[in-house]
Parts: sequence; structure tokens; C-alpha cells
Amino acid sequence: MRLSKVVVIGASVAGMRAVETLRRERFEGEITLVSAEAHAPYDRPPLSKQVLTGEIAPDALRYREIEWFAEQRVDLQLGLEAKELDTRAKQIRVGERWMPYDGLVIATGARARELEFGQSLKGVYSLRTIDDAVAIKERILPGVRVVIIGAGFIGSEVASSAAAAGAQVTLVEIGATAMCRVVGMQLGSALGKLHEEFGVNLICNARVTGIGGYERAEFVRLEDGWELPADIVVVGIGVSPNTEWLVNSGLKIDDGLVCDETLNAGPETVFAAGDVVAWPNRWWGGMMRGEQWLVAAEQGMQAAKNLLAGRADARRFSTIPYFWTDQYGCRIQVAGRTDVGELVPLVGDEFQRPFVCVFKQEDQIKGIFAVNAPRAFAMLRGALQQHRSFDRVMESVGRDLSTVD
Ligand SMILES: Cc1cc2nc3c(=O)[nH]c(=O)nc-3n(C[C@H](O)[C@H](O)[C@H](O)COP(=O)(O)OP(=O)(O)OC[C@H]3O[C@@H](n4cnc5c(N)ncnc54)[C@H](O)[C@@H]3O)c2cc1C
Repeated sequence: MRLSKVVVIGASVAGMRAVETLRRERFEGEITLVSAEAHAPYDRPPLSKQVLTGEIAPDALRYREIEWFAEQRVDLQLGLEAKELDTRAKQIRVGERWMPYDGLVIATGARARELEFGQSLKGVYSLRTIDDAVAIKERILPGVRVVIIGAGFIGSEVASSAAAAGAQVTLVEIGATAMCRVVGMQLGSALGKLHEEFGVNLICNARVTGIGGYERAEFVRLEDGWELPADIVVVGIGVSPNTEWLVNSGLKIDDGLVCDETLNAGPETVFAAGDVVAWPNRWWGGMMRGEQWLVAAEQGMQAAKNLLAGRADARRFSTIPYFWTDQYGCRIQVAGRTDVGELVPLVGDEFQRPFVCVFKQEDQIKGIFAVNAPRAFAMLRGALQQHRSFDRVMESVGRDLSTVD
């Protein structure tokens, strides 16, 4: 089908990659890129890292200068929210008007999940946007008592950045270790030690039941009644996909917008990409929703290509999930599955840096975890992409691993 007007909803990494790919693939028609945020499209990962530590100014996060959109004939609509989708009439209600399309890419991502209590008190923050990061940065000053709820990767990064700023940091986690949902108990315990090494008070197996204070947050209450004094509170308890605007669209929603293997959302010219998408990832072996920058970027490109190719020629999207996190000067990288098989250390042990291990199931490598070993990690990731057996990988790269970083 020949398309003349493509609308992309959501202007973060997935939406931007979709727009760039449309032009790179020589789509000559109209492109409209709609963003609920007032800021020009920007990169999120540095928000909890270099923006909080002051190494990067928020303005430096822009994906493209504003002139680029005009040059590429992309109609960038900032500060406007898509409210409703009518796939039969092929139109989207954006703000108060209906916007027609003949091709659509949905890239509305996810938002920070909120607690059911205390979230509206002054001094309580989530971290998803540039405005959140700027507000938190202004307040993490030497001696300020920061309580962070959730020791996933965002909470852990905020702890690291706040500790670097000289704040007194307490990190509260409902699970048994830091980052245990992502990397499991053994590695999570080692990451917990890292927090302690840098003076962060990590409290695990602790459920937060309240945030209290007069007009502004003054303490965080735990289930056992213990109260942690706080000048500011940062909530990092995961994300929820932005699908509410699609509830009457007839598209399938189930912890995300459900797509097929080609990222098609049902109607022939509706594709989706990024944190909002739940899709059958063949490599993973089932449905998944990525909450990782690289998955969102790759999907943005693939969704645009598949939209132009048409459903009959659309290609499957399968990927080995990958993410990185920076904490206390350590680059931590994870690829594939860390929830299956046995952990086999290849370089060092989990309390040392550099450290590299794989997760081995039968004779196959299923996942890789590395701290401060980017080149070894890259070699292993290349091998994992080829589905190599453990023995073959060790034959080809094993000897080099301890010398490359
Ligand atoms: C602080 C932080 C640090 C991170 N660090 C890492 C990291 O180190 N490594 C890593 O792999 N990943 C990291 N991530 C995750 C990564 O940034 C996300 O996976 C990625 O941003 C997802 O991109 P996306 O385009 O799918 O959606 P999002 O980035 O969620 O953007 C979606 C956009 O759509 C807009 N939108 C939503 N609904 C509507 C609507 N109805 N109408 C119009 N616009 C709408 C939103 O306002 C938003 O601008 C981090 C995320 C955060 C917040």
C-alpha cells in the first residue's frame, strides 16, 4: 500500500528512530511526530546518571536540533497528547482535533509507576522526564537526607548519583537484594555491597507503607513501623505502559499494546515500538515488553521499515534484550536471560571488578553479566547472537577474555 501521511505518536527514542528510518528509507510523504512533552525529543538514560551528577547539561540530551525537523519535513507537534484512536476512520484525536493518517507508529512508551500514597506531597519525586531530573538534581545537595524507594536500576543509579553529590542516602527495597528482579540473588547481593561501599544505607526485605510529613515529605514509614527521616523521597518502583488512550481503539492491551512478531498492532498500517509494546520475542521464547533503550531503538527502526514494506513483506523482530547501568563508576552490562541456568564466572568473582559471568543452560549460553569489562562483554554478546554453545564460545574467545579490558 502506498502511504502518503504517517503519524508517529511519542517522540522518544522509538518514535525518533521510526521518523529517521522513514526518511532514510526514502519515504517522501508527510510525517507528523506528536509528543505529550513540551521539550524537543531527548535521550533518557543520562537523566539518572550524568544529569544528576552535573556532568551533562539537560540541553545536551537532544536527539536532534530543532532545525533538523524542518529540514526533514517532519511536523513536530510538542506538548500535545493523543487521546483516542479510531482505526476504522484512520484518525487520532490529538488534543481537541482529529488528525488523519494512513500509516501510524505508536511509540508512547511508559511512565513511572506511582505509590498509592504520599506521591502528591512536596519533596516526593519519580524520575522519567527531564523536568523530574532537573527537580531532583536541584535538591540532592551535601548532607540532604534522600530516601529512595526501590533498588531497581533507576533507584540504584539515583542512589549512586546522590551519594556522589554528598547526600545521605537510604535505599529501601522490598526484595531480598538490590536489582534482584533483574539479575537474581547472587549478583544482586554483590551489587548491594557496592551501595554499602559508597556509604549508602541499603535496607532490603522492607515494604514501605507510608510517606508522612506536614505539607512536605518528612519521613518514609516501613511496614514494621520504623520511620526513615527524609528531606526528599525518590520513588523508583518500575513503569506502566502508556496505553490508556487506546482503550476504545479495539487494539489488544495486556501489560502493553499487544503486537505480532512484526510489531503490527492489528490493522494493516498500524505498527508500534518501544516500552509500550508487548510482542512475542522468538529469542526470549514468549511474550515480553522491553524496558530498555536499545530494544526501543531497534523496534522504532523495524516498525518504520515494516510499515513501508506492508504486512505481507514485514519482517519479524526478535532480539536479545540488552541493557546497561552505571553505578559508582562501574559500567554494568546485561544481555539475554539471567533467570535461567547456572551462573558460571569467567573473569573474577562477583565481588571483584572487572567481573564477567554467563548463565549456562545445558550446553548453551543464555545470558551474560559484566562489570567494568565492556570488551569482554561485547565479544560474548557477539557469540550469544550466534547462539553458540558454551564450549564453542570458550574455544573462540575464552582465552582472550581476561586480557581484553
Ligand atoms: C532515568 C532513566 C534512565 C534509564 N537508563 C537506562 C539505561 O541505562 N539503559 C537502558 O537500556 N535503558 C534505560 N532507560 C530506559 C529507556 O530510556 C527506555 O527504555 C526508553 O526511553 C523507551 O523509549 P520509548 O521511545 O519506548 O518511550 P519513552 O521514552 O517512554 O517515551 C514515550 C514518549 O511518548 C510520550 N507520550 C506518552 N503518551 C502519549 C500520548 N498519548 N500522546 C503523545 N505523546 C505521548 C511520552 O510523554 C514520552 O515522551 C532509562 C530510563 C529512564 C527514565
